[in-house]
Amino acid sequence: MIDIENLVRKNIRELVPYSSARDEYSGEAILMDANESPYNQPFNRYPDPRQKELKEKIAEMLQVPSGRIFLGNGSDEAIDLLIRVFCIPGSDRIIIMDPSYGMYKVCADINDAVVDFVELNPDFTLNAERILGNVISSTKMIFLCSPNNPTSNLLETDEIVKVLEGFRGMVILDEAYIDFTGSDGLISILDQYTNLVILRTLSKAWGSAGIRLGMALADPRVTAWLNRVKYPYNVNLLTQEKAMDLLGNDKQKQEWVEMILAERRRLAAKLEGQDIIKKIFPSDANFLLVRVDDPDAVYEYLAQGGVIVRNRSRMTHCRGCLRITIGTEAENNRLIELMETF
Ligand SMILES: *Cc1c(COP(=O)(O)O)cnc(C)c1O
Repeated sequence: MIDIENLVRKNIRELVPYSSARDEYSGEAILMDANESPYNQPFNRYPDPRQKELKEKIAEMLQVPSGRIFLGNGSDEAIDLLIRVFCIPGSDRIIIMDPSYGMYKVCADINDAVVDFVELNPDFTLNAERILGNVISSTKMIFLCSPNNPTSNLLETDEIVKVLEGFRGMVILDEAYIDFTGSDGLISILDQYTNLVILRTLSKAWGSAGIRLGMALADPRVTAWLNRVKYPYNVNLLTQEKAMDLLGNDKQKQEWVEMILAERRRLAAKLEGQDIIKKIFPSDANFLLVRVDDPDAVYEYLAQGGVIVRNRSRMTHCRGCLRITIGTEAENNRLIELMETF
């Protein structure tokens, strides 16, 4: 077992966290402890800093104990806090697979952690050996993303496990798109690996990017460290309430996912036949990565026609690639029509 306590930055280990009024007392009473207004119920009160009710709901849904759940202002907050808790600015290093989601590098840069990019195989599969071959003594953290953005493929569990087994630091596994796969992700192995952190979000399958709710699932000691460092009221009342409503309706999410998957199949089939499309990569997510000959021109043409896609053609192994998020049937039809007339 890895001594995760020892991986935490010394100043964070010694930190005396802010203790808020709602931390000290949260029961039914006349509350004269937090300088809140007595008017404008219920928004006059600070929200639950520990999001107890919401965590219980998520715990039940994911079959994970509440103590293993950290909730943040999007998973982006969790990414930033993880780096702040574990990585000493100016000296500790982070391995990020290349290509992958851009926020890991931005958060690393903000926190002055040194980034080592390690390439995926040209077919976008994970090469655990290459990842581990780049670990040095100051490497504290490895970011993996499955399904990966922008390549849209689920990573092989065996390779992820090899990374977990072979690394003495923290492994952050971003499962933002897991609901679009047939897989349950790796929550089931959380209790075997104290250095594993799984990120989930309400921004994709749950259709709620606007409310900003993300989560980190991890060893209770890790979630405790994250809780000590976060802003006391990082998940606002509106978000907590809206998330309670949403998460009560798993059927709705499942319907949305089915519709997106059906549209993904239809869109891929329609694009497959077009001259302009050189390749469509197999997708486990709510987007398609497609290769064209002149991505800049196609991007521009689509934008002129009112459809904005993401130009990923300058990323490693992504020559000629555009990333297309699956829209509604009508939105996808407009894209198909534009592609046909390019
Ligand atoms: C969209 C996305 C997220 C979501 O971030 P939030 O801050 O929760 O909205 C996380 N990771 C990846 C790889 C993503 O593509």
